[in-house]
Amino acid sequence: MHIVRYALDGRVHHGIVEDEGSIARLTGSPFDGLTRSGAIDAPGSVRLLAPVDQPRIFCAAYNYTEHTQESGKAVPGLPVLFMKPGTAVIGPDDSIVYPAGGEIIHYEGELTAVIGKRVRHVSEDDALDAVFGYTCGNDVSDRVLQRRESQFGCLLAGKGYDTFAPVGPVIATGLDPADLRIVTRVNGAVRQDGNTADLLFSVRHLVSYLSRHMTLLPGDLIMTGTPAGVGPITVGDTVEVEIAGIGVLRNDVVAEPGR
Ligand code: MG
Repeated sequence: MHIVRYALDGRVHHGIVEDEGSIARLTGSPFDGLTRSGAIDAPGSVRLLAPVDQPRIFCAAYNYTEHTQESGKAVPGLPVLFMKPGTAVIGPDDSIVYPAGGEIIHYEGELTAVIGKRVRHVSEDDALDAVFGYTCGNDVSDRVLQRRESQFGCLLAGKGYDTFAPVGPVIATGLDPADLRIVTRVNGAVRQDGNTADLLFSVRHLVSYLSRHMTLLPGDLIMTGTPAGVGPITVGDTVEVEIAGIGVLRNDVVAEPGR
C-alpha cells in the first residue's frame, strides 16, 4: 500500500493511492488508523508533500561498508547516529537550496523507515512491528562543514540546512527492508546503485537499538545510511532517489536567494 500526504484547495490530507492512481482520502493521520473518508481525489489535482510533517529524523552514518571505505573511516562497532532537524524536510519535487556559503554539497540516497507506534525497549524480533512503512530519503550534506564539525565529534550544521532532507514520494507498507535496491541518479546518470541487504546495521537493529535509549514516536524517520557512490550536486542539477517498491524521489537544486 502507498500512503501519501498532499495539499488540495489549501488543506492538507493523507490518502491511499489506489491501483488506478486516484487517491482515497483518509479521515486523519495514517498513524491513527487507515480510515477512508469516502472522498476520492484525482492525482493531477493535488500537490504531494513530504509524507510526514516536521518529523524527528534519526540518521545512521557509515552503515554500508563500501561507503565507509570511500569515506576513509573504520567500520563502526555500533550504529553511528546523528539527527537532522524537521525544518530540513522537503517533499517530492521541492527544491534543494544550495547554501550561499556552500562549497561541496553531496547527495546521499537512503532507505528511510517511518515509525508507526510509540515504542521503548522493543526487541529486534518485534522491531519491524513498530515501523509503519518506508520512503526514499536524501541525506544532503555539506561535506566541508561536516568534516570540520566531525573533527570535534559533532555532526549537525553540515547536515541540517533547510531543504537538506528531501523525503517521499510515498510511504510504502509491506516491504522487506532487508532486500531493496536503491539507486541515485543525478541528471539521469546513475551515481549509486546499492541494496539494503548490505546494510551493516539492519532496520530491525536500528529501531531496537534506538528504542533501548529513547522513546520512538509515530512519524519519526530513520534514515538508514547511504551506499557507495556519494558525490557532488550543484545548482541546476536534478537528483533522483529510487527504491524498489516505493518509487522515485525527485528534487532539483536551486541557488540560495540573496540575503
Ligand atoms: Mg547519510
